[in-house]
Parts: sequence; structure tokens; C-alpha cells
Amino acid sequence: MKRVALLMESWKRAFTYAWPSGILKKINETGEDISLYIFNASANWSQDTEYNRGEHNIFRLPDLTEFDGILVDLNNTADQGVLRETLDRIRSSGVPAVALNNRFPGLYSVGINNKLAMREILQHLWVSHDCRRFWFIMGPEDNFENRERESAILDFLTEKKIPGEDTAFYYEDFDHNTGVHGFRQLYESRNALPDAIVCANDNIAVGVLSEAERQGRIAPDDFLITGFDDLDKSRYYTPRITTVSFTREDAGYESMSLLMDIWNGYQPEQERFTRSRTILWESCGCRIRHASDMRKKMKENILWSAEESYFEANKLALESRMMQAATIQELMQAIPDSIPSFHCDSMHLVVDKSFSLLDRERDAFDFERRSQEMDESLLRDAWPSEMDVMLAYENGRLRSVGGGHVSGLFPFFNTEKKGQTFLFLPIHFRGRCVGYLAVENAVYLMEHQFVFAVVHALSTGMEQLYNKRRMANLNKALSILYNHDSMTRLYNRTGYEEFAERFYQKLLDEYSGASVIYMDLDRLKEINDSCGHEAGDYAILCVADLLRRFTTEDTMCFRLGGDEFLVLSRETDESELRRKLGRIREELLMMQKEKNIPVEFSVSAGYVIAGPEERDDLERLVQEADDRMYRQKISRRVNRGA
Ligand code: GH3
Ligand code: MG
Repeated sequence: MKRVALLMESWKRAFTYAWPSGILKKINETGEDISLYIFNASANWSQDTEYNRGEHNIFRLPDLTEFDGILVDLNNTADQGVLRETLDRIRSSGVPAVALNNRFPGLYSVGINNKLAMREILQHLWVSHDCRRFWFIMGPEDNFENRERESAILDFLTEKKIPGEDTAFYYEDFDHNTGVHGFRQLYESRNALPDAIVCANDNIAVGVLSEAERQGRIAPDDFLITGFDDLDKSRYYTPRITTVSFTREDAGYESMSLLMDIWNGYQPEQERFTRSRTILWESCGCRIRHASDMRKKMKENILWSAEESYFEANKLALESRMMQAATIQELMQAIPDSIPSFHCDSMHLVVDKSFSLLDRERDAFDFERRSQEMDESLLRDAWPSEMDVMLAYENGRLRSVGGGHVSGLFPFFNTEKKGQTFLFLPIHFRGRCVGYLAVENAVYLMEHQFVFAVVHALSTGMEQLYNKRRMANLNKALSILYNHDSMTRLYNRTGYEEFAERFYQKLLDEYSGASVIYMDLDRLKEINDSCGHEAGDYAILCVADLLRRFTTEDTMCFRLGGDEFLVLSRETDESELRRKLGRIREELLMMQKEKNIPVEFSVSAGYVIAGPEERDDLERLVQEADDRMYRQKISRRVNRGA
């Protein structure tokens, strides 16, 4: 079995299905046992740089040396650092690699000959339509294909000796609006139209035409115009737009056959061109030779929109189910329940451990703490060596939720089957990349552009669930904080006012006796002063911890003030009380030594044992215990010679 990795970046949020489609076509034709692993980033549309960074993380997921071939489309990767890093990893893997529609040193290259195609268009405008003055409305300046098309233009201008004042350039991106903006800007600054407007693609050409029309200028009467790429819009727009036609799938197909040539021991050429041809339509003043079949197109559109509305309905159902989910299990269950028609074989949601730990956290305070820890731990650009599978969905059923760790890439897939595709997409949470969704045989989702909708629904669902839990936890924490001390989690003075009397009565009712212990740390100020406030906090936490450890159930512990504690318990055996106080003192010393704190940890304590006859006297007993504690403190000071 051979494994091929396809690293690709979408143009905005449009998944380029043409690549997998062409690659799979070649694989299926030859019948060889090859699996395709697609790692798709979509990092050029969000304003949030953290999000974009997270998207690029998906390129770092695979160990490229585990593959037999690598295919890359990084034409939309604007981040030069990511581009360099990814190419470096590809080159150092030693695995044969092919760039789609691009040229990088050390990689093979497959795509149309952009330069030649652009030259053909220019030549046509020059020879057949006598164009001498041009505007060029171009895509992103740093985009490879745009640069190739531009370089053909520059060569042509030099060759034909076209003076600078007869040309104008505008650069933006590959979208419709580039045409709108470009036309507006050049029209305003130039006051006169050129003979021809040459656009870097069809989107831009349509933008130009629509803006020109708003300004009362029509092609081909007022100017000629050309596009590139032969998108549907060039064929069905009025006027139909002269363009360069090629089958995008061809690049995928050829890149795969180039890899196969290498595996078979042939030395292929470094650069392989796929076929393209100029299609002349009325936008450049050419006669229409044959009309496109509008009815066929309409039929396709009707079928497409039926599919889309079906998916849209499923997606809405998914979102609303996710909105109602109270647990991550319910959230995950929503996927197979709401969208039985993903038509994929399996789906795994794999997340960073800190995220799944957070999910399992039940304690309100710990949840907050963990979520802060998670925020910090997720600030990284590499994947941890172990991740957790949050969801495993196989053959239309949810197989498991929260099922164990993953080390390595895909131990969970059935890789026995031949010719599969695995699609890997980053999953975001609070603006960070927390994991990935791995979908087996996602052809339907890719082909119909539903990939991002599913990922988005999942991310939003997780976000909402987290916010809901956070809100519930914060409410819980607030109500706990009202009568608890936030540092030690013991009851505070309000808790004392609220519960002590009732609890004391209960002890007398149930055990006919109770004890009241008052305790105060010795020399906490000194600990604070000489070892820092944190050491003082630690001493307080140690006492709280020991009180919890050495008291039986049916005990209530209070932190009444800075270093003052009160314990109400059913223990009425004086020797047992003494024994426990002794143990607490021993443990305190050990805890102090463990942290190498030079001031001794000790407590002064006073206790009173009460019987049923003292039912109305809690306040007096507490005062008595406090007095005894104080007397002990004085004598301990005397003993220390203080
Ligand atoms: P003594 O041996 O007489 O008990 O003296 P002490 O230094 O322990 O002082 P005292 O019990 O009279 O007062 C408690 C001091 O503990 C006051 C304050 O500076 C400090 N303290 C109170 N709350 C906290 C706290 O939450 N953390 C820390 N580090 N120190 C505290
Ligand atoms: Mg003290």
C-alpha cells in the first residue's frame, strides 16, 4: 500500500475539490492500492491571526517521512514563514513531492503554462483586434500564477514596445471586487478607456464588467475584455467572456501520474504542463461560434440547489441539536443523528488533552483553573505527542465518545481497505486550534463544499457548550463563594453564621456531645515577612488540608479570619482529640520542611468538649476554646523565649 499526502490551502473558504478529484481519478484508473491523506488549511479569510495560525497547524500534523509521495498546493498561503517551513519539511523528508500550479526548488511541478496562455490572449488582442492600449487588473502580487501571468504581460509589452502611458496595472486579489475596485480606480484616474482590459481571472473580469455597466460603459462596444480560468461565469455572462480554458482536475491527475512514474523508476521532467486553450467569446469582439447549452446548465443548477437546500436543512438541524446539548456526548451524538447523509465512512474528532480534561472537569473552581491553564498551554505551533479521541463515528454510528489517546496519526482508521481518502481539518475553540477532524472518504462533503459548514457547526457547538458550562459553573462558584473561603474552600464567617448553630444542635441530637476546637497559626506574620506571602498562604493551606484529613465525617471546619480556624465535630474523646492535634502538628512540620521554609509551622489550639446540657451555649464555648488557644499561644511564646 502506498500513501500520498496532499497539503493544500483553500482560496478563502472554497475547498479545491479539483485536486482530490483528479488524483482519485488517476488512482482508480490504475487500480493501485494508494490512500490519499488530505491536510487542508483555510487561513486566508479570517481577520483573526490566531485563527489563521491554527489553520496552518494542520500542515504540521503529518510526519511526512511516512508517505510515499507528497502533493502540495500552497498557492494561497500568504504567510511566508509557513510557506518556508512547510517546504523545508517537504524537502527534508526526502519523499518525492509535486507542487500543483507552482514551481519550488527541489519539487516537481504540474500545472498549465500560465505564461504561454496569457501570451496567446495578448497576441490575439494585438493581431485580431488591433489593441494598443491596455489595462491589466491583476490578482495578489505574491501569488505564483498571478506572477506568471504578469510576467507574460511584461514580456509582451517589451516585445511590442508599448509605451508606459498606454498601460495601467491594478493589483488586489482574485475576487469579483478586485474588478469593481480596479475599474473604478483606473477609470477615475485615466478619464479614458483603453482598447482592452486584461484580467487575471474571470471573477475579476465580471467585476469589471458590472462596474463598467454601472458607469454606462459596455463591452465589447466601449472596450474589449478578457478573463482567465474558464469559470462558468465567463460562459454564461453577458457578454460571454474570452478566457483560458483548462480542466483543473488535470493537474491533480498529472501530479499523481508523475508520482507513479517516479515510483516506477522513470526520471520524469521537473515541470509537466497540463493542457489549456484560449476560448474566444464576444467580450473581445469575437463572433460566437457555438452557444453553450443553457438548459443543461440550468438542470445542473437545479440539482445543485436541491442538494444544497437538503444539506442546509440538515445543517440547521445539527446546529439546533448542538445548541441544546448539555454534555459533549450529546453534542457529538448530534452529528450522526442530524446528518445521516454525510456519506463518509468514518469521522474522528481528535483534541488536545487539556481540552478533553477540561471537558471531564466537574468541579466549578477546577474548571475555571483548567480553562486558564488550557489557554496558556494551547499557545503553541506544534502538536502534542498524544491527543485524545473525543468522538469516533464509524459506518453511520457513533462508536465511542471520549475514547482514549492517540499517538501517531491515524491508528483509528481501517487502513486495510484500498484506495481511501482521509481528510484532516483543524478544529478551533476560543480562537485556538485545539484539534482536528479526520474524515474518511469525505468525497461528498468536499465535492459539495460542505466541509467548512460541518467544521464550523462543530466548533460553534463546542463553543456554545463551553460557554453554557462556564456560566453554570460561575453561578455555582459564586454561590459557593458566598459562604466559603475561596482559598481554602473551608466555610467562611458567613458560613459560620449560617450553619454552625444548626450543625452544633445536630451533633448534640445525634451523638449527645460535640467538640469545639479553635486554632491559630503561630508566627504567620514572620513567615510572611521572612519567606514571602506565598509561604504564608501555603501554611494556611496546609492547616486547611490537615483539618480535612484528620477529621471524621460529621465535622465542619471554618476559616474565621486570616489564620484562625474553628472545627465543630462529634469527637468527644479528649485523648483522641489530643492525638489528632499532635498528628496535625507533626504533619505541619513535615510540610514546612518539604518546602525548605526556615520558620517553623505550628498552631496553637484550644478545645472544649460539650455535653447535652450545653445546648444553648455555642457562642460561650467558642469563646472558651478561643481563650484556651490564646493561653496556649502565650505559653508557647514563653517557651520559645519570645
Ligand atoms: P501569632 O503567632 O500570635 O498568631 O502571630 P501571627 O504572626 O500569626 O499573627 P496573627 O495571628 O495575630 O495575625 C495573622 C496574620 O496573618 C495577619 C496577616 O498579616 C497574616 N495573614 C492573614 N491572612 C493571610 C493570608 O491569607 N495569607 C497570608 N500569607 N497571610 C495572612
Ligand atoms: Mg497567628
